Amino acid sequence: MADEANPYESLQEQIDDAAAYLDVEEGVIARLKAPERVLETNLTFERDDGSLETVRAYRSQFNGDRGPYKGGIRYHPGVTRDEVKALSGWMVYKCAVVDIPYGGGKGGIAIDPGDYSAAELERVTRGFATELRPFIGEDRDIPAPDVNTGQREMNWIKDTYETLENTTAPGVITGKAIDSGGSAGRVEATGRSTMLAARETFDWLGRDIEDATVAVQGYGNAGSVAAALLDDLGATLVAVSDSSGGIYDPDGLDARTVKSYKAETGAVSGYETAEAITNDELLTMDVDLLVPAALENAVDAELAVDVSADVVVEAANGPLTPDADDVLTERGVWVVPDVFANAGGVTVSYFEWIQNRQRFHWTEERVVDELERIITDAFEGIIDAYEQNELPNLRTAAYVVALRRVVNAYEQGGNWP
Ligand code: NAD
Repeated sequence: MADEANPYESLQEQIDDAAAYLDVEEGVIARLKAPERVLETNLTFERDDGSLETVRAYRSQFNGDRGPYKGGIRYHPGVTRDEVKALSGWMVYKCAVVDIPYGGGKGGIAIDPGDYSAAELERVTRGFATELRPFIGEDRDIPAPDVNTGQREMNWIKDTYETLENTTAPGVITGKAIDSGGSAGRVEATGRSTMLAARETFDWLGRDIEDATVAVQGYGNAGSVAAALLDDLGATLVAVSDSSGGIYDPDGLDARTVKSYKAETGAVSGYETAEAITNDELLTMDVDLLVPAALENAVDAELAVDVSADVVVEAANGPLTPDADDVLTERGVWVVPDVFANAGGVTVSYFEWIQNRQRFHWTEERVVDELERIITDAFEGIIDAYEQNELPNLRTAAYVVALRRVVNAYEQGGNWP
């Protein structure tokens, strides 16, 4: 693993791992391991008391060989240049593995939004949008929400951009509310692709998802939707957790009732007759399917030794440390990687952008059908790569598929002197 788990170094290792199975020139691989450009800027904005504050902000455009840069903007005190570079690179491979015509980008402001009023956040967001204006655009770079940003921030960025450009350009940003040009089905998209990834994997393994027991770590947007849709398939949801702890019922939990309970009480803990468990107990529970849907690095190498699930589908980004991943591969646990399993979010963002360009709303049914087609086709591509190249695991297979697509686009462009 990279020194001190620098995410940018981890990304570069993952690219090297996959590149080892491809016949690609070293110079091309080197290019695919570093961003094309990074905007690093100061944002000076006025606090409500009239004082001025300066904060650091970044936008990394990692690779645009397959289309406009695409990726979220996060507000978090831990945002660094290397983190943004890594996240922008993962977006390249996520878009490529599901074959949507985007490159990868990511941005962030190093602030804790909890420290600021809404008016202050609007000023700093509009300041960032002004800095971003020459770099973004419907055909150039399309930001989206990420950690601690949502529809509100996206609307501020869209409005600033449209005002400065003297145009309307809803497709300059995704993750908008429906009335501002958002898409039906976006909220459920990540949980839906997680469910589809699990269903396809069980089918490929010759097992029935209806007979599967499931544990879900993290019961927010991704986890609760995945749980409800797996419940709909007939799987038995035996355990879920959030930051308050976990609950367990061997007879099965009703995913939607648990979601309503969490909405009312703020936590899954204390739900009806379910038994209280810890997050580590959930992660090592003897179930058929484990869905980590909380934060990165939930399972390290030590915990991975005790993971008892047969299949792990990563709804969260990076829930396994690279060392944990190695342990699970060695132990024969099937890990369905994040770049594929949670790609429903960016895929429906792509549908949102298409609808904005068409100035036409799709029905939810169409969104669901198109997403299912994209995810099932992507799974087939990953499995073909896994079987034909005798790859060590499905993550390397996903990266091989994605890297090959990016390299092809670059080489077909032939844009070297
Ligand atoms: P969210 O904030 O809605 O939910 C996160 C959940 O995780 C909450 O229930 C929280 O209580 C729980 N949690 C936090 N720390 C925990 C811990 N230590 N143990 C157990 N539970 C814990 O976030 P989300 O949008 O569902 O995102 C979850 C993950 O999915 C993130 O890694 C995110 O990057 C990834 N993801 C989300 C989307 C999306 O469209 N929402 C898309 C791609 C990837």
